[in-house]
Order: sequence, then structure tokens, then C-alpha cells
Amino acid sequence: MSSLTFIRILATLMLLCFTDFGDFLESRHFVINCRRFHAILDNMIHVWIGILSWIIFTEDPFGKCQDLIAVALGASVIDLDHFLAAQSFSVDAAMSAGKRGIFHCTGLAILISLVLFRLKGRSSALLFLLAVIPHHLRDAQRRGLYVLPFTHQLDTPPLNRALVRLLLPLVPWVLILANHLQAGNPPTISRVFNV
Ligand SMILES: [Zn+2]
Repeated sequence: MSSLTFIRILATLMLLCFTDFGDFLESRHFVINCRRFHAILDNMIHVWIGILSWIIFTEDPFGKCQDLIAVALGASVIDLDHFLAAQSFSVDAAMSAGKRGIFHCTGLAILISLVLFRLKGRSSALLFLLAVIPHHLRDAQRRGLYVLPFTHQLDTPPLNRALVRLLLPLVPWVLILANHLQAGNPPTISRVFNV
């Protein structure tokens, strides 16, 4: 097994464990009782899931720090749209906003990734999806997926916890396959697992 494959499998296992650990932390009374700390912790869990997703996805886990930072920041800033949804700079108002803002719209994220693909290329589009889709999936466990912009009629009900556990580690692997396919390299076992 190559070191890249080992890192990818280790990061996948860490992603599985960390998602459960994050949910465990967020269910603690001291976290639930302090809403601001809860909001910060929840955002940091999104960031860490973004980082692990990037470690699985990248072929250069010890380089391209700018990509890592971009994914981590992207996974975090999505939650700024709670302020947009609340139309207020108040943290309390943002946390009490009933509807999610536009950054949480998965359909719009896919549309933006297609625009990025056309304008900036495959790498930018895939990094964008890597930052956004795991965040949306994890949030969907509580609130469902926000499918189309400017309407909540197609929003899904909250996703099953086990389904989210399955999908979260799959996202970077699916994007690895998409990367190989788009590069014109059929995603063979040897290419994906670097063996
Ligand atoms: Zn969110």
C-alpha cells in the first residue's frame, strides 16, 4: 500500500469517527446551554470535516496549503449566511434565524461549481464542492437539504443519521473519481488507490 493510500484510508476512518465525536460533543449539556459556544463548535466541526475531506481528496497532502486553507475557509464561511437570513449582524438573531441562507443551497452550489469549472477549471470546481457538500450533508441531518435557491418547497426532510455517516466519507472519494474521469483517465483501482 502506498503512503498516499494509507493517508487516504486513515483520513476516511478519522472522518467517520470525528463526525460521531462532533455529534457527541454537541449533545453535551454544557454545549447546548451555551448557544454561542455551540455555534462556534459546530462551525469548527465543519472546518475539520472539510480538512479531512481535502486530505482524502488531494494527491499532495503535504503541499498545496492554499487549497487546504481554501477548503477550510469555505466550509466555515457558509454559516455566515445565517446573518444574511436574519438580516442582522446580531449573533443571537443569526442563531435564531428560521430559514437558512443562500450559502446552504445545494442546487446553487452545484451551479456555482459548474460556472467555476468553465471559468477556473476542474481543480477550483472540485475544491469548491469539497468545501460545500460535506457542510450541507452534515447540516441536512438536522434540517434536510435546501435544494433550490429562493424557494424552500423542494427542501428534503432531515436526512437519516446513518445515511449522512455513509455519504460524508464518500464525497471526497466520488470527487477523486470525478477528477480522474474529467482528466480523461479512467478511474482504475491502481489510479485511485495509487498502487
Ligand atoms: Zn451550516
